[in-house]
Amino acid sequence: MRSLSEIKGFTPALCSQLAKLGIPSIQALLLHLPLRYLDETRITAIRDLRLGEQTQIEGVVVHNEVSYKPRKMLNVRLQDDTGIINLRFLHFYPSQVTAMQIGQRLRVFGEVRPGFFGYEMVHPTQRKVGEDTPVNQALTPVYPSTAGLSQAAIRKAVNLVLQPANLLETLPAWVYQSLQLPDFASSLRLLHQPLPDMALTALEDRTHPAWQRLAFDELLAQQLSMRQHYARRKQSQAPKIAASQTLVKQLQAQLPFSLTAAQQTVIAEISHDLSQPHPMQRLLQGDVGSGKTIVACIAALQLIEHGWQVAMMAPTEILAEQHYKKLAGWLVPLGIEVAWLTGSQHKKEREHSLSRIANGEAMLAVGTHALFQDQVQFKQLGLAIVDEQHRFGVGQRLALRKKGQQAQLEPHQLMMSATPIPRTLSMSYYADLDVSVIDALPPGRTPIVTKLVADDRREEILQRVHDACAQGQQAYWVCPLIEESETLQLQTANDTFAYMQQTFPQLKVGLVHGRMKSAEKQAVMQAFAANEIHLLVATTVIEVGVDVPNASLMVIEHAERMGLSQLHQLRGRVGRGAAKSTCILLYSKQQCSQIGRQRLKVIFESNDGFQIAQADLNIRGPGELLGTRQSGVPMLKIADLERDAALLEIAKVTADRLLENHPAAVAAHLQRWLSQGEEWIKV
Ligand code: ADP
Ligand code: MG
Repeated sequence: MRSLSEIKGFTPALCSQLAKLGIPSIQALLLHLPLRYLDETRITAIRDLRLGEQTQIEGVVVHNEVSYKPRKMLNVRLQDDTGIINLRFLHFYPSQVTAMQIGQRLRVFGEVRPGFFGYEMVHPTQRKVGEDTPVNQALTPVYPSTAGLSQAAIRKAVNLVLQPANLLETLPAWVYQSLQLPDFASSLRLLHQPLPDMALTALEDRTHPAWQRLAFDELLAQQLSMRQHYARRKQSQAPKIAASQTLVKQLQAQLPFSLTAAQQTVIAEISHDLSQPHPMQRLLQGDVGSGKTIVACIAALQLIEHGWQVAMMAPTEILAEQHYKKLAGWLVPLGIEVAWLTGSQHKKEREHSLSRIANGEAMLAVGTHALFQDQVQFKQLGLAIVDEQHRFGVGQRLALRKKGQQAQLEPHQLMMSATPIPRTLSMSYYADLDVSVIDALPPGRTPIVTKLVADDRREEILQRVHDACAQGQQAYWVCPLIEESETLQLQTANDTFAYMQQTFPQLKVGLVHGRMKSAEKQAVMQAFAANEIHLLVATTVIEVGVDVPNASLMVIEHAERMGLSQLHQLRGRVGRGAAKSTCILLYSKQQCSQIGRQRLKVIFESNDGFQIAQADLNIRGPGELLGTRQSGVPMLKIADLERDAALLEIAKVTADRLLENHPAAVAAHLQRWLSQGEEWIKV
């Protein structure tokens, strides 16, 4: 395929401008679709203009003056048979002053605004016309652009590559015909060069068949790429693990609870994967508190029983420590050794862990990202479990997987996420994984009561926290997130801590934040878990996974600054025991943005992680929800997961059929959509 620079008309300057826009190739340029369209097919009489309207007018210049007060500007007045309008230019070239001299007929496009002398347009586009210059026949596309690259230049560039040879159909006709969508070439042509008489509304909302065809193609490319990737990994070999005969039974006999039906279902799904000679690639989703840890533990036991080691990685030390304790508590009584590994360990302790992992004494290793550093050598790793997977980058998960690659065998992989992923998102960006969902909480939980309280009632809330603690409850006080400055955030936490100690001398108050040494952090968390601390002042470090069932009250300051999943995670720290729990969201009336208000409403009204995640997707879009997973992964540009959910379903089915029977179509389609050499997902 020819590169852009080989085409006549594409100067090096133009090519480098296009490269800045992320357009390195002909196909990428063709798929650079308009943001919107202008209707320059009609001329509106000045008398009929309406405020806020984007429209085209035509008239003769009757006034042209450069004024200097209050600042330098060019004022032009344009008259037609029905009225006069003012055109104002704050930045202009001398050539424009002459181009718009008195008597000149102009066609002008801009937004109608209120001005000093009736309506005006500020910086409208203008061009000289004669009395019978025809109006444009079709809508004018407006492209995403970058400084120095004019719309006219992009349009010209697009038109140069809009050639049949570049618009070959990649898909068998049955694919798009059954959807009643047009072929690729006519869809793309229509979007770049709308037909005469096409209404603006038809193209503006992207439900037009031409838009739908492109959205479908994009979704299909994503599915093909990710499913192909999935299939490739499915071809590699992994240890084939039979069901557990003894250990799982022994563990269950010692548990104080029995597994829920939802837990049993996902355990069956995992066991099935493990019994295959290919690596499991499974994402285990479950709302906070749904009991993922025990599921992971049972998966681990299955490997351990057959002599394979397991690694479990968590994103923070607090969480890793907690997992370590919990898992050791379950496994050590069964005679299984568990090792613990973090970055902040003492050298000796660390070396001890490393050697037990290397010689296979420790069958389970729990830790932070310290687990996948070079010095860590497993004797025989068979399963890597990644908790809160969205907090890890693609590279980190890959590194952990590589740890186990020996004798041609790859370890199985189980990822866990307490941030539920809305269905459309998991169908698209997670199409390279199998997904299991724990869809019900263990019985006996009393729902958390959420209260929204304006922060002018902070005193009253402080009193309430005091009273609750005095009566034997435990509480979290979560300090505000200060994104701009970690130092300021720490200071706030320290100040709050000092204030609480002073105000409530009879309470034991603790403090935990991200900058503390991990031993200190652990000591505080232990004391809190042992009920030696009544009130724990914390930053958002406690957001993930912390499990102290006796804590039943949480106050979150400046809740309006926090994201939805963050609030849901934080709130999930209470309501873990039998006691009735309350979460109080303090918010600042003055500082609460529109989005902040929207979020608080969602979190107030819902306790359901999936509903909250769906709302989050609607408010923030997929990029934020995907976290680090998205790094290096292209985002959907044309398709919208909400609007095009139906297309996504079909793209998924179609991808399977194409991968099975139409390898040439798959190759051609991916070649077009991934022409920049990128992949949808790398792990
Ligand atoms: P998460 O899914 O958020 O990681 P955890 O695994 O930490 O949740 O479980 C939350 C709490 O529920 C833990 O204290 C755990 O021991 C308990 N738990 C897990 N499964 C059950 C069950 N089937 N019945 C009762 N309690 C359970
Ligand atoms: Mg957890």
